[in-house]
Amino acid sequence: MEAGRAVLESYGYGEIELPLLEKGELFSRSVGATSDIVEKEMYAFEDRDGTMVALRPEGTASVVRAYIEGGLTRAMPVARLYYTGPMFRRERPQKGRYRQFTQIGAEFLGRDDPSADAETICLVADICEAAGVSDARIDINSLGDEGCRPAYREALSAFGRERIESLCEDCKKRLERNPLRLLDCKVESCAKATADAPMMIDHLCASCRSHHERVLELLAAAGVKVESNPRMVRGLDYYCRTAFEIIGSGLGSQDAIGGGGRYDGLVAALGGPDLAGVGFAFGVERMEMAATDAGEQTRSPEMFIAPVDEVAAEPALVLARRLRRCGSRVELGSPLRRLRAQMKQADKAGARYVIILGADELAAGRATVRDMVNNSDHTALFALDDEADKIIETIGRVGESGA
Ligand SMILES: [Zn+2]
Ligand SMILES: [Zn+2]
Repeated sequence: MEAGRAVLESYGYGEIELPLLEKGELFSRSVGATSDIVEKEMYAFEDRDGTMVALRPEGTASVVRAYIEGGLTRAMPVARLYYTGPMFRRERPQKGRYRQFTQIGAEFLGRDDPSADAETICLVADICEAAGVSDARIDINSLGDEGCRPAYREALSAFGRERIESLCEDCKKRLERNPLRLLDCKVESCAKATADAPMMIDHLCASCRSHHERVLELLAAAGVKVESNPRMVRGLDYYCRTAFEIIGSGLGSQDAIGGGGRYDGLVAALGGPDLAGVGFAFGVERMEMAATDAGEQTRSPEMFIAPVDEVAAEPALVLARRLRRCGSRVELGSPLRRLRAQMKQADKAGARYVIILGADELAAGRATVRDMVNNSDHTALFALDDEADKIIETIGRVGESGA
């Protein structure tokens, strides 16, 4: 999550804090009354005065509401906002899917041009890389707009009605209310029945088509790889034009670690001016599960301090604190354990350097540094009362000089 934050800030995003509790109608008006989130998964209940309230199931609606109510539509007609925190959905809990889960998400408001979509997807790719999921796949599709989607919806609905006997109960209901969802139904008979269904991508109007093509061109120029997936429709009503999903390679093929898209009508639908928007959210727990590279290593300590006896415990504690205050990650060993055991522990913790504080070192007012990557033969010395910055620099030089 910290890695994501740093990337977001490098793109000029500012953090916005959102309440956990919102009026229930905020989500039925934005996410959609017929979406799974509102219909099945939202924790909604009646407040004492009869108002329906809900634990937020997602962040976009809240950001847009706050953006409008805070008067930001005038103060910041183009805004880049991000949020992090818990969301709540009443789903069957399973690996990587919890009823309270954490999201990190961002909204780019006030821009309807393709370069805003492209910048957003670049940002998504950079967050993936920073979080250690650089092998994630980004699927992209266009869901059309108010101009071209209604006719397509009707065509898809008619297609489904002809095959109604092969559809699951959910899809039978979706036929009239939310036919796009037929395309991402996981039931096998539905997937079969809709194999030749008309796709939105083939029914885009001229302006949606050129918008989509420009987004793809810009992403290609930026070197961001995306895959066209005409069946990916997202479950939320507010998306239009660009939609995307991020699939982590470590999880099952159905499992998105994040997703997003464009939602140009949403600000107006929630009572604001006619402002465009595009955004995304990642499920932090799922993203961590999918992390295969650097992301995980960043959590291991850079340094492990090994005090060999009780006498060394005091300078070890002081040194650990000084180094941490300079931004180093430091794990402190137990003076009650043998040095060998502490070295093993340091190795297990993934520490790059071990600082050994023993009787000889203390008598000389110095400490020994062992480089765990370039092997134990190479050691360096520094004085315990040196500036912490200087100590860190000395330790870094141990690594550079190698075995
Ligand atoms: Zn179905
Ligand atoms: Zn269109």
